[in-house]
Parts: sequence; C-alpha cells; structure tokens
Amino acid sequence: MSSLSFEHIHPQLRINSYGHYLRRRFGCRVSKVNVDAGFTCPNRDGSKGTGGCIYCNNVSFSPRDTLAEISLEDQLAAGMTYHRTRLRSQSFIVYFQKYTNTYAAVEHLADLYQRALAVPDVVGISIGTRPDCLTDEALELLTRIAKQHYVCLELGLQSADDAILEQINRGHSLDDFMTAVQRASNRGFDICAHLIHGFPGEQPEEFLKAACLLNGLSGITSVKLHQLHAVEGTELAAMYRRGAFEPITLEQYVTTAADFLERLAPRISIQRLYGSSPLEIRVAPQWGLKNNQMWYAVLNELKRRGSWQGSKQQS
Ligand code: SF4
Repeated sequence: MSSLSFEHIHPQLRINSYGHYLRRRFGCRVSKVNVDAGFTCPNRDGSKGTGGCIYCNNVSFSPRDTLAEISLEDQLAAGMTYHRTRLRSQSFIVYFQKYTNTYAAVEHLADLYQRALAVPDVVGISIGTRPDCLTDEALELLTRIAKQHYVCLELGLQSADDAILEQINRGHSLDDFMTAVQRASNRGFDICAHLIHGFPGEQPEEFLKAACLLNGLSGITSVKLHQLHAVEGTELAAMYRRGAFEPITLEQYVTTAADFLERLAPRISIQRLYGSSPLEIRVAPQWGLKNNQMWYAVLNELKRRGSWQGSKQQS
C-alpha cells in the first residue's frame, strides 16, 4: 500500500470510505441528514414513464419522519439532534433523497437548497436525482452553490446494462448517465454514482464492468452500492411472489461486492455497501443482518482475501 494512489485507503477498512473522506475534508464527524422536500419523479408522473422503477417504494429508502408535510427546517432539526446524540456529529450535509430532487423549477430548487444551507452547522447538500433530469439551470445553480459550500450530486445509474435498465423500467439509458456525468464534471462539486446488484438474470461478470466504467469517469468521486431487495408495494415484490425474481444470496452479494471493490479505483470513496428497508415492508431477501453487519460482511471478505479497494484495478 505504498503507492500514492492508495493514500486514502483506510488500513483497517481496506477501502476509501466516504465517512473518512468527510472527516479529512471537514476535520470533524459529518453526518448526512435526509429530508423529504416534496418532490415527485418523472418516471412516475408520466413525463418519462409511469409506475416507476420496479423496485421503487420510497418508504424503503427514506426514514419515516422525513415527511414532506413537515417543514424542511423541522425535519433537519430532528435529524441533526438524532445524529448529534447518537454519533456526536458536529457538521451536517443535507441529503435531498426522496424521489428526484432536481425535478422542479430552478427557483424552487434554489429556495430549498439555500434554506437547508442556512441552518447552522450545515456544511453542504447532497442531491439525489436521475441522470435525465438535470437542466442547464439546475447545473448552474449547483455550480454557484459549490463555490461556497460542499455539494454532492448523486446520480442513479443502478445498472450499466441497457437491457437491465429497460427491464427494470428505469426510463433512461447508460448513455443518459454518461452525458449527465460529462455535463456535471469539472464544476467544483462531487458526483456519486448509485449502483444495484442482483437484478434478475444479471451475471456478476457483467455487473463488475461497472467498476471499470466508473474508473474511467474522472468526475465520479464516490459510489453507493446496494443489493436488490423487494419491498411491499412494488412490482418487484409481485415478481418475487409469482417466482419471477429470485434474490441473490448473501454469500453471492458479498463475493461480488468485494470483487467490485477490488476493481474500483482507490480515488473513488465508498458511501454505501448495502441497502436497507424497514422490516415491516421488507419482502426479500431476508438476510437477517443489521446495517453495520452488512457493511462489515463485505469488508471482512476483503480482509479474508488479503486484498483492498483497487488491488485488482485494471488500467
Ligand atoms: S427514478 Fe428513483 S424515485 Fe423515480 S421511480 Fe425510479 S427509484 Fe423511484
């Protein structure tokens, strides 16, 4: 681990973790606080598609107390108190997570983002969105904000395979993602890519190509990796019940996630290694692990192999 390119690999975790990246950048513990700002999604309201992605039930990836009826400021106060108490966090990044958080007039976006940034101890914003929902005005807004605050644009790719994107009703292509990354790069803000593994028919070798793809995109600074899981109220749950979706096993996921990390450039930090959903709506898989157990299941696999993020990166 003497090479300069491995300088941000945590010696115990064996990866470049986003938590440590934030600590290096801000000099203290920084937590992301989720808010629901009342957005919808163009893949649900008919402008891009209807029905949404087959796995999408936003309850599954958003805490229940971040409801749009509660003011942004009240949501933030509750979230920040929680993180201060539980994790002793000192600074916060407001995560606009639910649905598509650039899907509104730029004036409305500016109002929401600036209100979040006006809260004391908030050092930045993280904006979750689709690659096909980024106007020039929204990009300019984020560019201006990034001159004074931390900004991370989180782009959902999910799969680098167009056939899978179509199968899961994403309503955008790999090309849309590539174009979005190109347009958003070199603007002074971070870009995170979201990926999911375990789609029906997906082979690990196909999924692993996404690591090479991200390595070649200099604008990508972090990644979130999730296992595909079915929750109530989704097409995927219906597919599971009629036998059309068989989740991968925990062992398969851990193996492929570790393979992915070995191929991923050390400069790209890792925001997540698993997806979680409330127990009451979780359909499959039921691996019975808590979030930190999922995280360490993957990291312990790297340890078992004696490898680390980027150790099998191909130039
Ligand atoms: S793009 Fe996101 S919010 Fe929209 S349907 Fe898909 S998963 Fe849901």
